Amino acid sequence: MVNCAKCGKELNDGDAYYFVPDQDLKDRYFGDPAGMDNMFCSKDCAPTQESLKQGHIKVDDEGVVHLYPDDYETESTDK
Ligand SMILES: [Zn+2]
Repeated sequence: MVNCAKCGKELNDGDAYYFVPDQDLKDRYFGDPAGMDNMFCSKDCAPTQESLKQGHIKVDDEGVVHLYPDDYETESTDK
């Protein structure tokens, strides 16, 4: 089970999450080497909107949480 690092909301299988992929911004805002403080339930919970990316939570049969970053920009709507 993982939770939003800001508001503590539970993130479950299939839920979307937002994270900061940029190393400079990560150095500025986060300290956890595992990145568990770089996980947010919504854009509003993130410390910055700059280069924010989206991913999805996947929980396997053994309850292990996997994070799958979506490989596209969240703002991209063309095509
Ligand atoms: Zn949140």
